[in-house]
Amino acid sequence: MPAVLIVEDEPRLAEPLMFALEREHFAVTHVTLGEDALDAVNTQPFDLMVLDVGLPDLSGFEVLKTLRQYSALPVLFLTARQDEVDRILGLELGGDDYVTKPFSPREVVARIRAILKRTVAKPGADSEPLWHVDASGCQVLFRQAPLSLTRSEYRILTALVQRPGQVFSRAQLLDICDSDEDSFERSVDTHIKTLRAKLRPLNGEHLIVTRRGLGYLLDSP
Ligand code: CA
Repeated sequence: MPAVLIVEDEPRLAEPLMFALEREHFAVTHVTLGEDALDAVNTQPFDLMVLDVGLPDLSGFEVLKTLRQYSALPVLFLTARQDEVDRILGLELGGDDYVTKPFSPREVVARIRAILKRTVAKPGADSEPLWHVDASGCQVLFRQAPLSLTRSEYRILTALVQRPGQVFSRAQLLDICDSDEDSFERSVDTHIKTLRAKLRPLNGEHLIVTRRGLGYLLDSP
């Protein structure tokens, strides 16, 4: 049963689509915010995302950009405006298709089927993501190799991977660790050091960058 994540803030559009997909035996999850969509992708597996461009918090473009740093999940955009269509067509980020509003739920279901057929037909396509966070197994894969991480390392790395390019202060990372054993900012440095050591055999240690006086970030290649 293919799992579809619908990211759409307007109930009158989301509900008929959910109904149509469920009738066709898709497993459907619905969220209304971009942040929630990114969280959902990191906590459960999906086969496809239906993504509204105009969301109340992040734009669909921002969601896709972040998603593409660690996931090749197929994305079908929902858009209301011609200028958005132009942008989708010009995207190098790789949205897989789009549907303009108003749409018929049947059409969207047909598009979804077509995309899934395509993406299933080419396993291991050339756009393998560098990082993959497997939240259910508390694992991070780098170049498809699972990293053996402690709990704090996992939490730090997941935060960095989900927001590539964003600088996290040691205090923020300490918060993210949320562990009694890590009560000093210095322990964050230790975790970063061991993370780099674990990435070194895979030629990835340079991706965790130190910003002196500020903190750490993940370089997006
Ligand atoms: Ca909207």
